Amino acid sequence: MQSGSTQTDVLIIGVGLAGTSLALSLPSSMNVTLLSSAPVPCGASPMALGGLAAVLSAQDSLEQHIEDTLEAGARHSDKNAVRGIVQAAPDAVHWLLERQVPLDRTEDGQLHLTREGGHSQRRIVHAADASGSAIMQALVPQLAQASHIQQRTDCLALALRRNEQGTVAGVDIYDKHTRRYETILADHVVLATGGLGSLYAHSTNPGSALGEGIALAWRAGAAIRDLEFVQFHPTCLHAEGPTFLLTEALRGEGGHLLDKQGRRFMPDYDARGELAPRDIVSRAIAAQMRHEGSNHVWLDVRHLGADTLQQHFPKALEEGLRRGLDLRKDWVPVAPAAHYSCGGIETDLSGRTTVAGLYAVGEVACTGLHGANRLASNSLLECVVMGRAAAEAIARSKRTQRSALVPETDVANTSSISSSCSYTNSKPNSSSSSSSQASVVPNWGLGLNSNSSSKPSPRPSLMTAAAANAVENITTTNNKGCHHGESNSYGNGSSSNHSPSTNNPPSLTSLRNLMQEHVGLLRNHQGLIQALHTLDHWRRQMSLLPPSLDQRTLSLQLDTAWLLTQAALDRPHSLGAHYRLD
Ligand SMILES: Cc1cc2nc3c(=O)[nH]c(=O)nc-3n(C[C@H](O)[C@H](O)[C@H](O)COP(=O)(O)OP(=O)(O)OC[C@H]3O[C@@H](n4cnc5c(N)ncnc54)[C@H](O)[C@@H]3O)c2cc1C
Repeated sequence: MQSGSTQTDVLIIGVGLAGTSLALSLPSSMNVTLLSSAPVPCGASPMALGGLAAVLSAQDSLEQHIEDTLEAGARHSDKNAVRGIVQAAPDAVHWLLERQVPLDRTEDGQLHLTREGGHSQRRIVHAADASGSAIMQALVPQLAQASHIQQRTDCLALALRRNEQGTVAGVDIYDKHTRRYETILADHVVLATGGLGSLYAHSTNPGSALGEGIALAWRAGAAIRDLEFVQFHPTCLHAEGPTFLLTEALRGEGGHLLDKQGRRFMPDYDARGELAPRDIVSRAIAAQMRHEGSNHVWLDVRHLGADTLQQHFPKALEEGLRRGLDLRKDWVPVAPAAHYSCGGIETDLSGRTTVAGLYAVGEVACTGLHGANRLASNSLLECVVMGRAAAEAIARSKRTQRSALVPETDVANTSSISSSCSYTNSKPNSSSSSSSQASVVPNWGLGLNSNSSSKPSPRPSLMTAAAANAVENITTTNNKGCHHGESNSYGNGSSSNHSPSTNNPPSLTSLRNLMQEHVGLLRNHQGLIQALHTLDHWRRQMSLLPPSLDQRTLSLQLDTAWLLTQAALDRPHSLGAHYRLD
């Protein structure tokens, strides 16, 4: 486990769409090193389904895209960032086309534009319902063809290193192939490490989305912003195996959400029923689950008809069947899962953080575009626009003055356990909900109306025997602690027998359960304080352990979770994706 050191002009940590767009936009005169924690393609980018938003039709306008983004973001976005990024969207699409990304077209050769929740116009370019995969499949081979780009997979970034001028000028990594620790010196360091959804027990994100980039930047002194806004996707298939998103279009086409008695419960929460915005549906499901003491609710799409399901939702149908659930005949178990981090490392519109030499792009960054809640398909857009903008800024900037790195201090000590951190949180907004239209007083987990207390009916009668069996198995397996069963709580701060406590030793599993329980969809002061105390305790415990790979990565994850929890505590009122029960 010897250490060595290498040198590069630009070091990009993360090979999702943001890191890739950046690398491909840098001049070939610069040496570029790309690191990823897993073999490429990896991260959330290849998993993206819907597409990328851009104003491309005559019926649409820049102002409408801006307004939709601001509205979705609960008016918490940075208006300059929204305008700047949305304005650059058509160019970003042309860049993808120049790079041979196969976006869907109409019969007359125009780009096919689809529409998603929150968009007032058709403006989503896509490649069927697997857009991220098509984009990455087109771009990744181009990285290999560029002789100035060196790719290193299975390498973990563990610490940012600064030089005597305080500029970030190197990164400590661990290479899983060589099993060696190394320091890579770089004139420019870019964090493109993606989101943090996998800090939660229930998440749509890939395993790499552990928020480590945020902790790396914070430890180096960078400002972190809006971390409390974690968007949850309402309807993820609650079954064993990788999380699968059941597209919102299933509800858009008339799918119903049912409680365990088979009763539609959404109208109890919002007059728009299943068509309410994503955050409202997620919270209603969480409240319903809490009320029922269950770890999922049911989605019923049988009435859409076999033909419609076959024709418009083949992927959902196929995935259900693979897991013993037939959408044409069965209710399917669904639950919300952590999906997108709206906040992150604060940057300007060139991807510069508040620390010299350090850039951040993609989901790990916070430009201010998403505000308190992301508008669908604005994230892939941000990856491309900001990747290209950061490349331009790096190409124009001066070389870092090469000087000795400051010796690495004990990693655990650098993240002092105190509440004084460079955390940027804009003023708490007094608005109590992101939706101004909710017309029924929501009852988030505080006891529903009288109907809901009726006796449980034998629910599986509406399912095929095979599916009922499959679900029974899933429930049994889950109770043993598999993938989805680590916790059946959706974050309400209430005490639970399974609630993680300081008695549990720190581990990724206990961290995920803690975040799910207390820093999830529904939050309150008591739960957040409990989470913060536990995180403080765990961080202290970690700091006493001898440094090892596991100790270092878990310490980073704990730091990010701690920052998120602190941010949620600092915002006493609900706003967008951040919902306070108290
Ligand atoms: C299921 C799903 C569907 C989605 N659908 C859409 C959609 O339709 N439209 C849309 O706009 N957005 C969508 N999103 C969101 C969007 O996909 C992501 O926000 C975006 O892909 C993030 O890209 P990124 O480049 O920032 O990070 P990622 O693509 O997540 O890449 C992160 C990279 O960082 C590396 N990494 C992480 N930590 C470390 C470390 N410590 N050391 C070294 N490397 C590290 C990983 O290996 C990976 O290479 C979806 C997300 C999911 C999960």
